[in-house]
Amino acid sequence: MALNILSVTSECVPLIKTGGLADVAGALPKAMVPLGHRMRVLMPAYPGLAARLRDPVELWQDEALFGGPARVLGGKVDGVEFLLLEAAHLFDRNGGPYLTPEGHDWPDNPERFAALSWAAARIAQNGLSDGWVPDILHAHDWQAGLAPAYLRFIGDKRVKTLMTIHNIAFQGLAPADRLASLRLPFTAFNADDLEYYGQISTLKAGLVHADAISTVSPTYAAELMRPEFGMGLEGLIAARAGDLHGILNGIDLEVWNPQAGPHPYSAKTLSKKTAATTALRDRFGLAETDGPLAIVVSRLTGQKGLDLLPGLLPEFIAHGGTLALLGSGDAGLEAAYTGLAKEYPGKIGVHIGYDEDLSQLMFAGGDAVLIPSRFEPCGLTQLYGLRFGTLPVVAATGGLADTVIHANDAALDAGVATGLTFHPTDATAFSHSLRRLCTLFADRKLWQQMMRNAMRQPVGWENSSARYAAIYQDLLG
Ligand code: ADP
Repeated sequence: MALNILSVTSECVPLIKTGGLADVAGALPKAMVPLGHRMRVLMPAYPGLAARLRDPVELWQDEALFGGPARVLGGKVDGVEFLLLEAAHLFDRNGGPYLTPEGHDWPDNPERFAALSWAAARIAQNGLSDGWVPDILHAHDWQAGLAPAYLRFIGDKRVKTLMTIHNIAFQGLAPADRLASLRLPFTAFNADDLEYYGQISTLKAGLVHADAISTVSPTYAAELMRPEFGMGLEGLIAARAGDLHGILNGIDLEVWNPQAGPHPYSAKTLSKKTAATTALRDRFGLAETDGPLAIVVSRLTGQKGLDLLPGLLPEFIAHGGTLALLGSGDAGLEAAYTGLAKEYPGKIGVHIGYDEDLSQLMFAGGDAVLIPSRFEPCGLTQLYGLRFGTLPVVAATGGLADTVIHANDAALDAGVATGLTFHPTDATAFSHSLRRLCTLFADRKLWQQMMRNAMRQPVGWENSSARYAAIYQDLLG
């Protein structure tokens, strides 16, 4: 049966991205097409986005959506069918999707994303003016968490809902006195529903009311049922284990393609990767050494474990390693890495900022990508690393554990290793892994075998999109 799926998200490539959620939201609709399903993406019309729709059509209106008029414009961008929610009083402002220009949460974030969720529930229930009626509402993260809840509070049972957790660290909290302004019934404010320790949690609302729950890797699904990872929601998630699915994200194989860049290579022409490596060294002012050129492309936050790396770099450099880092985030970490680049010229190169073109060059030219995350729901950069034969050195958590085959003796003997994993996420385990990286890298034959293994691993959307489609079908019986 061909399905109509309404995907509800706060960010989506190619229009706007602050993290991996946007990649997933943009990839799923394309992956549904060959399966015969139609997915449309409902997202706020942040400044300038509506102008990018090809042949926009007005498909829905509301005179009074959380304090002002709103409408939905439908249109395609790069093959993705967008439904942009225009509501100037909520979304037409300078700054980011979640933050003011000064970097603080917008004070009305609860209402802004409640409005998105409200529109989603109404569209799911009644359809759009072009006659399109969703069978499934797929809500992503806390920003869409109220959508499944509103549908239930409205009393709709026809539309089936899936709530996907991309990162449980963000729970969509609001003070209890906002219940009325969020159009929520007072009866829902209890621990079995959307109350989270005296506050409203929009993510919890979604987890309680959605027909099914998914997250972005099998290991993260299991981790979420444990107190170290569940952030207080572990009990609820464990109680719904039968409705919980762990589905890995994929990457866009056309965008992340070692054969497409300015220095193309493949698993059959590995030696051509050195041209990209040279370009990367030049870009970061790195010297040529015998050791591995490691890269980091990441938000610089505690989650990513990148506070562990600075202390390990002197030894890594002593073993011949060099590092190219691209990232932004925590001011202390930015300063630490910038300082290290000055202290070790030619050995450590740092770009503070966000730059996708540069990240492409880094994956093409690097030997290894370092990802020492404390938790990682799925992670995308290890998948880019596999695709480019830039071998991942990762903490064994979440999706990192599910996608990297550790180079222990058995895996090496069997010829299946694709990288290095370490556990726990601490300096001792990470430094051991970095030493092993240098040893393995020195064995060129072994290293190239691992590169070929990595580049052969399927990291696209095929398997995962089929699994999402199977959940949608199951929900509809
Ligand atoms: P998260 O969503 O937690 O940040 P993911 O690994 O799931 O982590 O996704 C991060 C995405 O953002 C990847 O596509 C990664 O390449 C990209 N990214 C992160 N930091 C930068 C940066 N400084 N420049 C370019 N791309 C970046």
